[in-house]
Order: sequence, then C-alpha cells, then structure tokens
Amino acid sequence: MDFDFAEHHQLLRQSVREFARAEIAPHAQRWDREERFPKELVSKLAAMGLLGIRIPEEYGGSGLDTTAYAICVEELARIDGSMALTIASHNGLGTGHVLAFGTEEQRRRYLPKAASGEWLAAWALTEPGSGSDSAALRTTARRDGQGWLLNGTKTFITQGSVGGFCVVLARTNPDVPKQRGISAFIVDHGTSGFSASKHLLKLGCRSSDTAELTLENVHVADSQRLGEVDRAFMDTMRILDRGRISIAAMALGLGYGALDMAVRYAKERKAFGKPIADFQAIQWMLADAKAELDASALLTYRAAWLADQGRPHSEQAAKAKLFTSEAATRACNSALQVHGGYGYVREFDVERHLRDAKLCEIGEGTSEVQRMVIAKHVLTG
Ligand SMILES: Cc1cc2nc3c(=O)[nH]c(=O)nc-3n(C[C@H](O)[C@H](O)[C@H](O)COP(=O)(O)OP(=O)(O)OC[C@H]3O[C@@H](n4cnc5c(N)ncnc54)[C@H](O)[C@@H]3O)c2cc1C
Repeated sequence: MDFDFAEHHQLLRQSVREFARAEIAPHAQRWDREERFPKELVSKLAAMGLLGIRIPEEYGGSGLDTTAYAICVEELARIDGSMALTIASHNGLGTGHVLAFGTEEQRRRYLPKAASGEWLAAWALTEPGSGSDSAALRTTARRDGQGWLLNGTKTFITQGSVGGFCVVLARTNPDVPKQRGISAFIVDHGTSGFSASKHLLKLGCRSSDTAELTLENVHVADSQRLGEVDRAFMDTMRILDRGRISIAAMALGLGYGALDMAVRYAKERKAFGKPIADFQAIQWMLADAKAELDASALLTYRAAWLADQGRPHSEQAAKAKLFTSEAATRACNSALQVHGGYGYVREFDVERHLRDAKLCEIGEGTSEVQRMVIAKHVLTG
C-alpha cells in the first residue's frame, strides 16, 4: 500500500517479511495439515523480538509501538494466519494485560519470560456459555484465606495448552451488575487444578493452539490478582480495543497475501489462448480486492496511530476490524476463485488463507459486536 511509514517501521516490515518467508512459509502448509502448534518456532520468534513487541526493553522486550505490532502481525499473516494469531494474542491479550495493569512485581515476573518465549501467554475471557456477552461469565473467584479459589471452564483459548501462564477473568462479586463484579488473575500453568482439557480442532488457523481450560479449586495468592478487585471488565475492554487492531492487521495480511497469489496465478494461467489476467472478470476481482484492502490498511493504521498517540481508539479499532476482516474474507474468496480448481485443493496456499481469514470476523468480538460498538459511538457521538 502507498503509505508513508516511518523508516524504522519500513525496516521492521522488511525484516519480518524475510523472516516469515524463510522460517514459516516452507512449513506452514504442513503445520496446518498436522493441526499442531510448532513449538520449535518459539525460540526463533523470540530471537526476532516478536514475543515482546510492546514489552519495554527494561523487561527484555522490543519496546515498540502499536503500529509496529500491527506491521509484525500483518507480515506474518501474509504467509500464515496461525502464526499471526499466535503473535497477536500472545502480545496483545495475555502479555498486554500484564503490561497495562500489572504491578511492578508482576511485570518483572512475567514479561521477561514472555519476551524470551519461555512462557507463552494465554488470556481467558470466553466460556462455553458466554462469548459476545462476555460479562455473563460464570467462572468464580472466591476469597480463600490470603488468596483466591477459582472454579469454572474457559473455551476457545489461544495458547490454552501451550502457554506458560494465563490471565483468567472471573466473577468476584455476584451481587452487583455483571460488568462490575469481575476480576483478573494470573494463573501459572502447572498450578494444581488448572488444566487444558480439550484441544479444539478448527476450520482455519489450525496450527495456532486453541484449548478448553478447566479450573477446579485453583488456589492463587492475592499477589496474582491483576488490577483492582471487581474492576477488570473495563480493563478487558481496553485490552480488546488494542487487540482488535491486531486482528484487523491479521486480516489485512491474509487478504494481501491471497491477492499476491491471485495476481501471480492470473498472469501464469492460460485459458482460451491467453493469460486469465487478460479477462475483465478476473481483473475486476483483483481490482475490488486491492481497493478494499487498501481502504482496510488506512483504517487499521489510523487506529494504530491513534493508540500510539494515547488517544481514544475504541470506535476506530472496531471499524478497522469490522471492515478489514470482511474485506479479507472477500479478497481470499476471490483469490481462490481466480485459482479455479487449483484454489480448492490443498497444494496451493490460497484455501488456507480463506479458512484463516474467517476467524477475523469472529475472534476478539464478532462483526456483529463491532457494529454494536460503532453504533454506540454513532448514536452518542
Ligand atoms: C480460534 C479462536 C480463538 C479464540 N481465542 C480466544 C482467546 O484467546 N481468549 C478468549 O477469551 N476467547 C477467544 N476466542 C473466543 C471468541 O472471542 C468468541 O468466539 C467470540 O467472541 C464469539 O463468542 P461466541 O463464540 O460465544 O459466540 P456467541 O456470542 O454465542 O455469538 C453467536 C452469534 O450470535 C451473534 N450475536 C451475539 N450477540 C449478539 C447481539 N447482541 N446482536 C447481534 N448478534 C449477536 C454473534 O455475533 C454470533 O454471530 C477465540 C475464538 C476462536 C474461534
């Protein structure tokens, strides 16, 4: 896209692009088929600085901004949605929550290990009975001596079974309106009663780890509580505002990646004696995808820029995620169509991009939820 990124952002884009081409592209199809999170990649992701993108250098991270975070996710997604999702959720959700609301002690304990890849981060808000209506969660945390006792089930949790720690949202006060009685806790993997009970098989993003988590009388010290008691729901909304920028960036990368494949293929494939790129029907698919993705990039990087200025970006992040995720699905679908039958078989990457892109319309708030956020701003603005 023609966009005037700062030089350090351009250099970052170039280096992540080269990394993704060298270290991920040769394996992405196989990992997807095996439906396995590639643990062997973690040390390489860490060495590239991708596991501590926004973590300040004093905690071992790269200390970069939201724009840089979006660039990293976009570049990974051009090659592989699964690794883009891993990086988006590790940096934005689990690690992001500790970074934004953790005590100094919590930051010192968790952030260096997150940046080095020793501990991947998970973040558990969704439950079997509550997703969009996330404040209806039923996991409980009751006072237990000096600490807390957690009970409940979480589902669809990224890095759920491969993470080293998990930020868990739980109800601490059932007697107040549902948004006002929720607290956050950091639970280390290996804590008694905390287990990943089910590895979930998915349509796309198959080599990103997604698990159901069970908490059975999990005791955590009060020092593991993250943020104020009963106030975590508002913190959660702020985490999701920034997280949505990364899901928009993921969709953008998937869309551009599929478009690149379609352009290449359209120039090579011949029908009726000429390259299919000569047919207007094909050209229009490419043109629509390019126009929609460039518009998506503007929305996404505007939201990132606002976040970097410390300015409100909830509405802009919702618009970026809504528009970009739907545009990416359309772009991937058109790219598959350009490939004809070859698009439908697994030897080509385009079908994987389409499967991966669909998640962006669902994770971190569905398109319907984004419309609710935008409508609230439209009606009250
Ligand atoms: C691969 C994957 C990874 C994920 N990773 C995580 C993670 O790491 N941590 C985490 O906490 N969660 C995670 N999620 C969960 C995700 O955020 C939820 O799936 C999502 O928020 C939707 O919730 P739900 O699945 O319960 O759908 P529901 O809320 O049950 O929605 C079902 C349908 O109803 C619609 N709907 C609901 N309410 C309304 C309304 N008021 N108006 C109009 N339509 C409505 C929805 O838009 C949707 O179309 C992940 C999900 C997936 C698939």
